[in-house]
Parts: sequence; C-alpha cells; structure tokens
Amino acid sequence: MMNDKPASLSEFELIRRIRQQAGTAEHLILGIGDDCAIQQQQANQELLTSTDLLIEGIHFDLRWTSLEALGRKSVAVNLSDIAAMGGTPLSLFLAVACPAQLNSDQLQQFTQGFLSEAEKYSVVLAGGDTCRSTGPLMISVTVQGTVSKGRAIRRSGASPGDAIYVSGSLGDSALALQLLQQGESPPSQLADRHHRPQARVALGQQLAAQQLASAMLDISDGLLADLGHIAEESAVGAEIELSRLPLSNRFRAALEVDPQRLDLALTGGEDYELLFTSKVQDLSQHPELKPAVTRIGVITTEREINCRRPDADLYQCSRGGFDHFA
Ligand code: ADP
Ligand code: MG
Repeated sequence: MMNDKPASLSEFELIRRIRQQAGTAEHLILGIGDDCAIQQQQANQELLTSTDLLIEGIHFDLRWTSLEALGRKSVAVNLSDIAAMGGTPLSLFLAVACPAQLNSDQLQQFTQGFLSEAEKYSVVLAGGDTCRSTGPLMISVTVQGTVSKGRAIRRSGASPGDAIYVSGSLGDSALALQLLQQGESPPSQLADRHHRPQARVALGQQLAAQQLASAMLDISDGLLADLGHIAEESAVGAEIELSRLPLSNRFRAALEVDPQRLDLALTGGEDYELLFTSKVQDLSQHPELKPAVTRIGVITTEREINCRRPDADLYQCSRGGFDHFA
C-alpha cells in the first residue's frame, strides 16, 4: 500500500531489517517474506492461538517505558497466555501501526527487544504487518503454540474443594506503576516486574504434563478479577485467605508505609503469574515447580469471591480489577 509507511524508513526497508534478524525454527517451513507463513504441524498436538493488542496511552506510556522494554513486554505478555494453557509457544506474528514521530532508531530498539525476548523462549517471529498510524503507536502480537491433545488447561475446570494456587509474588508490577505515576522511581526489583515480566512457560508446561491443574489462567487484570473469570467459567465461587498472599519483601515494606496497598496485590494487575486450581491440596511436595507456587485459598460452591482477613472477618476491597470498558 502507498503512503502508510513509518517516518523516514520505507515499509519494505523496515520489513527487510526485521526479516534479517528474525531467525529460523525447525517447525517454520516458510517465515517472513511471502503472503503466509507455513508451519509444520504434529499429529498428536493441538494448536493454541492468542492475540494481544497494546496501545500507547492505554497499555504503556513512553514517558517511562523504553522501546526496548516495550518490545520485550509485548512478547512476554503474549507468551503468558500460552503458559496459562500449559502449552509450548512456537511462533509470533507482529503487527505494528507507527505514528510519524517514531524514528527508525526507536523502531530498531523495539524490534531488538522483541526478538531477544522471543529468542529467550525459543520462539520465532514468523510474520506480521506494518503500517503508519495517524494516532498512537499500536502493537498487535499473535502467538501460536502447541499442547498435547486434550492436555490444555482451561478456565472452566475448577470444582468446589479444589485448592487455589498462585506462582511467584503478587502486586509488584502494580506497585511499580503506582510509584511511577506518582513521579517516584521504584527500586529495580519492582520496576523489572513492571517493565520486564516473565512468562511462566516452564511452570505451565509442568502443570499440564503432570496434570496438576484443574483450571488455570495468567493474572493480567488482577488476582480478584482473574479469579472471577475462573469462577464464572467453572460456575463456582472462591475464598482467599489474605494472610497467605505471596508478597515480595519490597512489597511488604511498601505495605508498611501504606496498608491500602494490599489492594494492589488483589486488583493491581500485570502480575503475569499463573493462577490455578488443583485437586492436590499440598503442592509443597512438588519442589520442581518453579517459580514456587503458594496455596492462597479454596474453591467453594457459593458463587461469590470472598477474601478472609487474618481475624476471620471478610475484607472489602476498595478497587475493582482492570476493565477497559468500566
Ligand atoms: P502483504 O502485502 O501480503 O500483507 P507485506 O508487505 O505486508 O505483505 O509483508 C511482507 C512479509 O513481511 C509478510 O511475510 C509479512 O508477514 C511480513 N511482515 C510484515 N510486517 C512485519 C512485521 N512487523 N513483523 C514481522 N513480519 C512482518
Ligand atoms: Mg501486510
């Protein structure tokens, strides 16, 4: 198409550069350069596909996010969806709509971040689309992966009595964002959780292979909102024990300054940890699960989500989870 190129760099030149750096993979018969990518399929596997849209001003802010970190994050958040099914990510597709102000150096930084993060997970960039945006920078990433037939872990499999687990720690990313928005610079451990989230691919694969999870998703909108999705799809409720929430030392320190920050761990979002339910009541017998998982509650029959305080009263959360249309 004419007149839809990013500033100072032709569409073809940009795609040529991306193609040069994109690498190859065994399953990828034909990558960037033709009308479609061609991928080899395996007979005993099912295909997983997920798309995420990232829009400047809504999902990221270039005042405190570098293009390189944005490239990394746009890969990680997408792979997190494959992790949440227990799958193995294989291929990425990247569509970018570039505003005229973005120069070729910045695009190069984005591509570099994107491709090095993809390489970390042995995932290949197999295609995409590139055009000019008259509005903000928009990035659409599609990931495809595979899972053994019938082994994908859905949101709909939770039953009353199942234990609820979460990987890693909660709230660090939301706390970092809160500090950034207040004009403070968060310590690097927190900032990294926000700018460089890790997709829990290996953990998801372990849970699927050992059939340890009855339902699972990744926490992008906040623990309570995402637990709500499992509850909704499984037609169950849940009770969380606040004293069991896995919180980092940095988060605990910030909590002492302002106890209201507990809500960041419950509703902050962008944790990209795995939240799952299991028939197994004590997964501490599974030290191979990395990062470690913490039991935070139980699935119930009443269709509501409650948070139990250490004094046994119910906790009223002051914020909802993230909802684009709220
Ligand atoms: P078409 O006109 O058929 O859409 P394009 O000129 O848009 O073809 O793209 C040419 C090739 O470059 C295709 O293989 C496409 O998948 C790939 N491509 C375009 N933009 C990107 C991008 N941002 N990242 C990766 N691959 C891209
Ligand atoms: Mg195209």
